[in-house]
Amino acid sequence: MKPKRGSVQVITPQRDQESIAPLMQELLLKIGEDPSREGLVRTPERAEKALRFLTSGYQTDVESIVNGALFAEKCDEMVVVKDIEFYSMCEHHLLPFFGTMHVAYLPKDKVIGLSKIPRIVDMFARRLQVQERLTHEVAETINRVLQPKGVGVICEARHFCMMMRGVEKQHSGTITSAMLGAFRKRKETRDEFLSLVSRRNHPFT
Ligand SMILES: [Zn+2]
Repeated sequence: MKPKRGSVQVITPQRDQESIAPLMQELLLKIGEDPSREGLVRTPERAEKALRFLTSGYQTDVESIVNGALFAEKCDEMVVVKDIEFYSMCEHHLLPFFGTMHVAYLPKDKVIGLSKIPRIVDMFARRLQVQERLTHEVAETINRVLQPKGVGVICEARHFCMMMRGVEKQHSGTITSAMLGAFRKRKETRDEFLSLVSRRNHPFT
């Protein structure tokens, strides 16, 4: 089923909890390795564990993360959580991409516990992704949960599938953004966000 535009697709695939380690062993064979040599004996189990962690976002939902941490607040100044580190997996090559995300919103009557925002980022990052969708899913989720005046998300990432193979542009980064509500409509709001996240110096030093 194709998700409607503007809605977040919450994926809960039927999990086949059967071990995937035998597939890893098969994979080692097919790339020309000897899965019985010492260093590889436990690799299938380790790789399964790693893969399950890296895709654990499928088992998480927004409601359990937010868990009531919404507070009525007469704040109408922009809230920005910047430099949220994330690690994700590109769905085209099953290779990592990683970087930072800056998330901002303009509250309307309520705010969210600040620690919840990085957890929302992690939930979507720990799934097979493309950077554009990851950026939009974070923005749409904050928008749906908080119904603020607007949401802005900027994502800067580097992709192993570009760095290690093919084009081998090791220093190229990709920037994506999602602007909703006031962030889309008002240039001043967007500019304020951009100037807050581009300020590289720590304000307390
Ligand atoms: Zn890729």
